[in-house]
Amino acid sequence: MALFKSMDNLEDGKKQVVNSEATEKVKCLIIGSGPAGYTAAIYAARANLSPVMYEGMEPGGQLTTTTEVENFPGYPDGVTGPEMMEDLKKQAERFGTDIRFGLATASDLSKRPFKVTIDGNKNVEAESLIIATGATAKYLGLESEEKFKGQGVSACATCDGFFYKGKDVAVVGGGDTAAEEATYLAGIVNKVYLIVRKDYMRASKVMVERVMNTPNLEVLFEHTTKEIVGDMSGVTGVLLTNAKGEEVKKDIHGFFVAIGHKPNSDIFKDYLETDDVGYIITDPGSTKTKVDGVFACGDVMDSHYRQAVTAAGSGCKAAMDTERFLGAL
Ligand code: NDP
Repeated sequence: MALFKSMDNLEDGKKQVVNSEATEKVKCLIIGSGPAGYTAAIYAARANLSPVMYEGMEPGGQLTTTTEVENFPGYPDGVTGPEMMEDLKKQAERFGTDIRFGLATASDLSKRPFKVTIDGNKNVEAESLIIATGATAKYLGLESEEKFKGQGVSACATCDGFFYKGKDVAVVGGGDTAAEEATYLAGIVNKVYLIVRKDYMRASKVMVERVMNTPNLEVLFEHTTKEIVGDMSGVTGVLLTNAKGEEVKKDIHGFFVAIGHKPNSDIFKDYLETDDVGYIITDPGSTKTKVDGVFACGDVMDSHYRQAVTAAGSGCKAAMDTERFLGAL
């Protein structure tokens, strides 16, 4: 009889490893399947570490929600996010990675082998663990936002800004990311509206100055987003509410959400060092966490670059760090 607990405990952040008879032992376990996870898998498989990967809730990661990727080296004509992830998956499988559908729901990293619970009902015991669970962009939660995701609504200006060359766009958020995305977009598009809910921006002084000194960037303080409007072609405008409660409409083709990211580190953070937001802290220049044998790569440990290519690079490092760790045992 399998003795596993219910998944109720997933809600409260105190996720516990289940007592389960269904335990499997693996040498190298990779959690997460974005560019970091797949690259770690390619390197680990080629190093004969027999990696087992659990893909997580969103197989392929954040890139599967974008359309065209034009800045990943090696694709001179661009590639769609889902196609690129499929290519990476095939490459990882070609060298023998065992890729499985499943979500890591709890962990016990207090000693080796590390225990990771999958889907609340199966334990995997791992000699080494690579965490590549990524980060999830926060969205406003509007129905219209969901409807136009990938068709004008984006959470990454570096990824999608180019498609709005010469057009008008809006960015929502008042932090450094919003300021950075808005000024980046201003260099590409015709006009940027920056929608800030308060009467000031939380971004650093230097970034606020840059925003204010960008001629084709207009900050709409004390405005909130009511609805994103569009048609078959995608986004055509945004309805806002100003401080007086009046409705304001702006004609735009791109709506960029920059209200922060949430790193997917919840199930590991009782054991690892994280920053205030939850990004896993690794040794400088390495993927080593504070637990020997546990490595973190990609957006779950990188709040700054957040690019597919930088995530892939850190996935490579994580596999090499793992190989050295296992080799030294
Ligand atoms: P932040 O949490 O700093 O800012 C989020 C912004 O989004 C805030 O202005 C917040 O408004 C706004 N916001 C949140 N929810 C909503 C909502 N529902 N509707 C409207 N607005 C909303 O996130 P960032 O991603 O900007 O930055 C994260 C960290 O990374 C920060 O420490 C930042 O300094 C750092 N960073 C540094 C960079 C650099 O140094 N170049 C570049 C990018 C990020 P409010 O202020 O009202 O709460």
